[in-house]
This record gives sequence, structure tokens and C-alpha cells, in this order.
Amino acid sequence: MKYHIWTEGCQMNVADSQRVGSSLEHLGYTSTDQPEEADVIVLNTCVVRQSAEDKAYGRLSSLRPLKEKKPDLIINLMGCMVGVRGAEKLRARLPFVDVFSPPSDPGPLISHLTQGEVRSIEDAETARRFLMMDEELVLPSAERGRLVSAHVPVVYGCSHACTFCIIPYRRGAERSRPVGDIVGEVRSLAKQGVREITLLGQIVDRYGVDVPDGPNLAALLRLIHEVGGIERIRFLTSHPNYFSDELIQAVAELPRVMPHIELPIQAGDDEVLRNMRRGYTQQDYRDLVTKIRRELPGCSIATDIIVGFPGETEEQFMETYHVLADLKLDVAHLARYSVREGTVATRRMEDNISSEEKMRRFRLLEEQQEQLVGEINAKYLGGTVEVLFEEKVKGRWRGRTPTNKLVFVESEEDLRGRLLPVTVTWTGPWSMQAMLNKQPELITL
Ligand code: SF4
Repeated sequence: MKYHIWTEGCQMNVADSQRVGSSLEHLGYTSTDQPEEADVIVLNTCVVRQSAEDKAYGRLSSLRPLKEKKPDLIINLMGCMVGVRGAEKLRARLPFVDVFSPPSDPGPLISHLTQGEVRSIEDAETARRFLMMDEELVLPSAERGRLVSAHVPVVYGCSHACTFCIIPYRRGAERSRPVGDIVGEVRSLAKQGVREITLLGQIVDRYGVDVPDGPNLAALLRLIHEVGGIERIRFLTSHPNYFSDELIQAVAELPRVMPHIELPIQAGDDEVLRNMRRGYTQQDYRDLVTKIRRELPGCSIATDIIVGFPGETEEQFMETYHVLADLKLDVAHLARYSVREGTVATRRMEDNISSEEKMRRFRLLEEQQEQLVGEINAKYLGGTVEVLFEEKVKGRWRGRTPTNKLVFVESEEDLRGRLLPVTVTWTGPWSMQAMLNKQPELITL
């Protein structure tokens, strides 16, 4: 029996798919890249932009003839397209889909596949039983011993409700995972060869806020730091309002927590930020970046930007342009505003910036960012950095610096999972090339 998983969207979805694969392998299924060969097909979907949702519908319609030819095939639609509020409408619209699963929940699929056996067990219990034997996460076999960097969700959902965002409606209210489950999972990943862990949450720095007396993110980082075999720890995505001094101190003190912070600003103008309901001002963000750079020298900072939010004037856009020019951040993930059904912005604001204008603003930021990051990365040229190597891509080993810069190295050695010093020989805005530093030779006396 074979399964095929198609994943769209963020790292949370990638982590969720890993868990579905793990659950299916527990039941004896093996993975296949070919949907035609599969007995179970999982589509793990994203709706954060219209294009992602269109892609999922496209993929679904391509599966329909397959289901007609092979009626025993089980199609599972999962993720943000299904959401947490029931799938009645989708069920009517997509009668050839057998199972609908909310984000991060393999339960409905596992229940469906084991109906006779465990009918009485609740979905969540079933998921837990198949997925987390003694808090262990067994990676899908294709990744076991090969995966160097794994994502571990620590807080599901989001209760912030920024006006442009669909995520709280699809992933539900914020829920932190129990600390024991997380640490147990990290331990089991380390045993399977994983060297780097990225803790995930829509607002990861709110980890623990919903658990009275539970640990916060800083405390969780300290616990994970003790897990043997894990060389690097990262976390994303942070919200500026919750990035506490205690968290900064934990990053500063713990050598295996990497100096890289994902901190979306979304817009530079205070009125736009208010309309987005982000809860901070441009100055608050600037102050936080200054503080992070003071306490964590050499730290890289990535941000997210939305251009063309309803009502954004040219002057307001230029605030974003100037704040990025001043702060010189290492990465800016840029997006053009798009209407998402059900969000506050869609209900109450007019999408009044033309797509051409959104594209113009996007391009302006893109060009500026390319130049800024080119200059930032050029400072690495000739220097030595430590790289954790993940895999060989088109003949070159790919890895990352502590600051999350992508580095390529040519080597015939097997570098997978190795943490090695390299000398940077070329830099560009999106990646660098380097060569391995000569290892000190052993002296025989
Ligand atoms: S913080 Fe805002 S943008 Fe991020 S997931 Fe929550 S609602 Fe969406």
C-alpha cells in the first residue's frame, strides 16, 4: 500500500505533512512520488493567497479522473483549505474527496483508514496513538537518517487576527503544545539524525501564553538546548509585540540558538499598521531592531512586507521603502495584498490599489532589497563561517550559516549533517559560494 503527499504553503504545512507521512508509515504504507501508484493521496493545502488556493483546486481536479479509474483510491484534503470550522460546503463541492482534515491533524485520515479497528476512538486520540508513541515522532522512511533540519510546531493557530490574514479563521485559536511533547519529539528527531530544529508558530514568541504557569519560549529554548545531538535551534515567526528581553537574553546566552530572527513589520506607515491591526508603530519596530542588534551583534533579521494594502497611499508606501532602506534587513519576504474571503480587510475595506500599482511597489522594494542584501552579504567575502550542510543539489553541497545565509560548496566528501568552517569565495544577494577550510592535520608523535 502506497501514499503520496502534495504539500503547498508554509513550513507548518511541511511539518504537518511529515506527521501524516509518519502516521501512514505506522499503518504500513510506503511513500511514492507518483500519485498514479498511490492508494492514499493527501493534498495539504494553503489559502494564504488566491494563487495557492487556485493551485490546490487545479491539483484536485487533476485527481478526479484518477479517482474515477480507481474508486478505492482515498483522497484526503487537508490544511487551511479545510480549516477548523467544518467542511460541509467543501464536501458538497468535492464529492470525490473521501476525507477532510483540519490543519495539523492527521486524525480524520487515520480514523478513516482504521475504521473497523478503532471506530470508537476520537480523532485526536487516534492521531496521537499513531503519531506519538511515547512522544516519539518517527520520520517517514525517506527522511530518516537523511533529514538534517526539521521543523517542530510548538504553537498552533493564531488569535491575533490581523485584518488581512485568513490564518486565524483556518487554523483556529492559539494553542501551545505541551512542553513534554515538544522536547520528546526533538529528542526522537535527534536520534534519527536531525541536527537542526526550527520551532514553529504563527506567533512563536507567544509560546506558552495560553498555558498558566507553563514555560515561555525562552524557557523552551533552554530546555531544547540540552538535547544531545541538536547542533542548531531556530524559531519563527516572531511578532514584534511579544519579542521580550528575556527571549533576547536566551538567544544571546545559548550558543546553539542561532542569531537569526524572523520579525515581520508588514508596513512602514503607522496608519496602515493600524488598519492592519498589527499593534505597533514604525518607531516601535525600529526600537526593537536596534535593541536586538545591540544585544545580539551580527544577528540577521528577516521581515515580511505587504504592499498595496487597501488605502495605502504613495506616501505611506514610501514609509515602508524608507524604513527598509534605513534598517537594512537581511531578508524581506514581499507580498502584494490580495483579497481573502472572510478577513476583516475584505469585509470592511476596498481593495483600491490596482494590480499594476501593487506590482510597481513590489518591484521597487525588490530592487532596493536586492541591492541592500548584496551589500550585506559582500561583507562575508573572504571570511570564515560555520555551515551546517543539508544536501547535495546539482553537484554542490548546500548548507546555511548561523545567520541563515544559503551557502554552496563543491566537495566529493559526504557533508550531509556536518557542521564545518568554510571560507566564502563569492557572494550574491540570495546565496554564497565557499570552500571547505583545510582541516588541521593530525600530528603523529
Ligand atoms: S499574527 Fe497576524 S499575520 Fe500572523 S498569523 Fe496571526 S493574524 Fe495572521
